[in-house]
Amino acid sequence: MVVQAMASRLLGMTALRGLGPRAPGPPCRRAAPSRACSLLCPGRIFTKEDWDTKHSTISGRRQSPIDIQPAEGMFDSGLGPLHTHYHRSGPMLLYNNGYSFLAEYPDNCSANVLGGGPLQGRYRLKQFHFHWGASDERGSEHRVNGSAFPAELHLVHWHESCESFNEALVSKKGLAVLGVFVEVGETHARLQELVEALPNITHKGMMHEVGTFDPSGLLPPCLDFWTYPGSLTTPPPYETVTWFILKRSMSISGEQLASFRRLYVSAAGERAVRMVDNFRMPQPIMDRSVRSSFPVPIELQDAATDTAAPARG
Ligand SMILES: [Zn+2]
Repeated sequence: MVVQAMASRLLGMTALRGLGPRAPGPPCRRAAPSRACSLLCPGRIFTKEDWDTKHSTISGRRQSPIDIQPAEGMFDSGLGPLHTHYHRSGPMLLYNNGYSFLAEYPDNCSANVLGGGPLQGRYRLKQFHFHWGASDERGSEHRVNGSAFPAELHLVHWHESCESFNEALVSKKGLAVLGVFVEVGETHARLQELVEALPNITHKGMMHEVGTFDPSGLLPPCLDFWTYPGSLTTPPPYETVTWFILKRSMSISGEQLASFRRLYVSAAGERAVRMVDNFRMPQPIMDRSVRSSFPVPIELQDAATDTAAPARG
C-alpha cells in the first residue's frame, strides 16, 4: 500500500516536471471544510489577543506577510520555474468563514497541484481565498517597497505526503501558498462565475457548492516569483509555509471587488459587520532572505511600471 502510494507519487512527480499527463487519481469526494472553520473566525477583524495564540511551532521568527524590498542579490539562478498543474475540477465549495470567502477542494483531490521552484515533491491545492481593503489604497497582505495593492489572492497547497490538510498545517514544509497581487482594472471573466455565487454566502458560516472550477484562469501568464519561508497570516500563524509571491498581478473590476466588500463577517441575525480590511500587516523579516526567480535590476524597472503599480499604502 505504501509502496503503491510512493510509486504513484513518483509517477506524478515525473509527469509534473515534464508537464506531461499524470496518472489518474481517485475521484474527488465532495468538498467540505476540513475544520468547522478553517481559521479562528471570530466574525470580526482579529485583535492582538487573537494573534497571541501560543503554539509550539510558532517561533515568531518567520511570520507572514512581509514587505518585499526588491534588490540586487535576490536573484537565485538555481530556482527552477514553478509548475502549476491546474484543471477544471470539483466539486468545489464556496465558504464564508467569517474572515474571507474560501473556495475549497476536498482533501483527497489531487486534480490541482503545484511543484517546481525550491519545492520538493507535489503540493495539492486545498483552497484559495482573497484579502482586500475597505478602499483601494489597501488590502493586500504582502507589499512591495512599502506599497500595498487593493487585494491579494492566496492559493493554499499542502504536501501530498501528509495524511491530511490538518496534518500539513503543522508539518515542516507542509504548506505552499501562491500569492497573486490584485489590481483594479478590467473585469476578470474567469473569476466572474465565483463572484456571481457570492450572494449565496453573504454571512459567516454559509456554504454553497459551485460544481467545478478551473483555478488556472486566475493566474497571470508569467509565474516569475519571490519566495521566502513564512507562516499562515491568520491565527494560529503556523510557520510551515513556503511562500511564492508572483511578480505579475491579476486585474479585477471595481464592481467585482465591490462584491467582495458586500459580504459580512457576521452571521445572519447578528449585528451586520462588513467583510473588509481582512489582511494582516507586514511582519519583521528577521534573518530571512527573500529570493527571486528573475534577475532583479531589469525586472525591478518592469515591476515598477507595467506590473506592480500598487497604490501607496
Ligand atoms: Zn490568505
